[in-house]
Parts: sequence; structure tokens; C-alpha cells
Amino acid sequence: MNLAAAEFTVLIVDDEKQNRLLLTELFDGAYKIIQAKNGVQALEKARQHRPDLILLDVLMPEMDGMSVLRELKRDDATRLIPVIFITALDSAADEENGLALGAVDYISKPFHPPIVRVRVRNQLQLVHQRRLLEQLASLDGLTGIPNRRQFDAMLLKEWHRCQRNAQPLSLIVADVDFFKKYNDTLGHAAGDRVLQEVAATLRQGARRPGDLVARYGGEEFVLLLPETDAASAQALAEGLQALLQNKALPHPGSATGAHITLSMGGTTLVPMTETLDPQFFACADAALYAAKAQGRNRVCWMP
Ligand code: GH3
Ligand code: MG
Ligand code: MG
Repeated sequence: MNLAAAEFTVLIVDDEKQNRLLLTELFDGAYKIIQAKNGVQALEKARQHRPDLILLDVLMPEMDGMSVLRELKRDDATRLIPVIFITALDSAADEENGLALGAVDYISKPFHPPIVRVRVRNQLQLVHQRRLLEQLASLDGLTGIPNRRQFDAMLLKEWHRCQRNAQPLSLIVADVDFFKKYNDTLGHAAGDRVLQEVAATLRQGARRPGDLVARYGGEEFVLLLPETDAASAQALAEGLQALLQNKALPHPGSATGAHITLSMGGTTLVPMTETLDPQFFACADAALYAAKAQGRNRVCWMP
């Protein structure tokens, strides 16, 4: 694992300047360091910068480290940031207390710099691994684009965002035409390569920063287009059809022509309800069904 390639931010919280300096120097530029000199500032900086790790002193005037940790755990934005206590309180009871509150480690002062360095590195390694796993869990293994799980999460998020901002949200469901025939004729491995090509084509055509292209399952893809009205989304869908046509991927068994084609169904609305309306997806799906029924290789839209 390449830790050096990852940029980590560490927040050092200590009321004594000398200690903050000592800890900062100890990492010798390996991480981006932020400092806070009291509990209130620690909470502020944790929320603002979302550091990857917090080194937290316990004995500080006004708000002590234990209270800071309790506050961090209460806030969704900071709840998951690992915290290591570095403290002069060195009894077993103090250590037990700190770990019970949710600290990932507990280091007593005076500390041995190399040990602090290694313990911090170990925790950041775990952070890195957790991120990799999260990323893998949200991507489709075959095509490398977001999977259905990620799409479901983004659909909820964009629904809420568009509702708050009174913006239109468009959804396109796309399905490869006669794909079973393709597999039967050219084999499953060739089918897999087509799905990769189709995914790449959709990605190539939907490039606005907010656009999401995901594999919904099998040979079905979805495009989520925030702040996109029906006319623009339909134009995008037609553009994707053209882009795929240009690739001219041979499909000997297709009844729509000699090449791989997609049927697409789409819908657009300005979300009005707090909760996601299941009709939204159902509507795009019904439009896809209509596109299939009308002969495939086309875009249908449901108001
Ligand atoms: P239609 O035009 O009505 O959509 O017909 P179709 O043949 O595309 O639809 P159908 O649902 O009958 O078949 C879908 C096919 O997609 C069957 C399935 O084996 C294939 N498929 C699903 N996932 C994969 C995959 O990951 N790789 C490959 N190669 N094929 C897949
Ligand atoms: Mg199909
Ligand atoms: Mg299908």
C-alpha cells in the first residue's frame, strides 16, 4: 500500500505551544498539520478541515480532551475521525476511560517520538484501507463505473439537493438491445467487453461534474442528471445514441441493425416532496419499456 501517495491531514490539539511544536516536528512534513490550542478551537477546526486523524491532549483549561471527544462523536461530520489521546494522565483508569469514549489509541506523556510516529502511521493506514474498501464497494467490478448501491445513495442525495434548490432532476435508464442474442452469438467474454465499451461511451457523453453514470445491473445503465431540464436531458440521451452509433460495435444477431444499440427511457421533475418518490424511477423505467415496445434503439420520455 502506498501511504506516501495519499495526503493526510492531522489535527494536533494541545494547550501548550511547546507540545504542539514538538509533535509537529516529529512528523517532519509527512502530513499536513493543523493546530488547535484549546477544545473549542479543536471542534471548529475538526468541522472545517475534516482531518484524517486528531491527536488530542486531555488536560486543557476550560474544555478538556474528553469533552472534546464527546462532542466530536455527537456530530455526524466528525464522528468517524479517529482520535488518539496524548496525555500526562497515565493511570490505567484514565486510559480505560479514554478508550471507552471511543479514542482509537492512548499515549502517555512523556512519549517516545518514534512510538508516536508509528502509532499515528498505523492509524492512518487503517483510514487509507477503509477508504479503499468504501471506494471498491461503490464501484462495479466489470466496468469500473459506480454500481447500483452508489446510484441509490446519489439518487437520494440529489433528490434532496434539487428539492432544496427547486431545480429539475432528470433520470435516464438505458438497456442494451438484444444483448442475450449477442452473448449467445459471440460469447459471454465478448459481451463483457461490450458492457465496458457502453459504460465508457456513456461516461464520455455525460461529462458535467454533477452527472452520474452507473451500472444498474446486467446490461442496464442509469444516468442521473441534476439541475438538468427535460429538453437538455433528452438532447443528451440522443447524443449518447449517436456516440454509440459512431463506435459501430458489431452485433450480428441484432434485429435493430448491424451494431450494438441502446433503448433509453427518461423522465424529469422538480422534486417537491421530502422523501424520494418511487414513481420517479418507475416513470423512467416505463419510458424504457415504451422504447423497447416501439422498436428499440430509441429514446422515450415520460413527463
Ligand atoms: P432486450 O432488447 O429486450 O433488452 O433484450 P435483451 O436480450 O437485451 O434482454 P434480456 O433481459 O433477455 O437479456 C439480457 C442479457 O444480458 C442476458 C444476460 O446474460 C446478459 N447479461 C447480464 N449481465 C451480463 C454481464 O455482466 N456480462 C455479459 N456478458 N452478459 C450479461
Ligand atoms: Mg437488453
Ligand atoms: Mg435488461
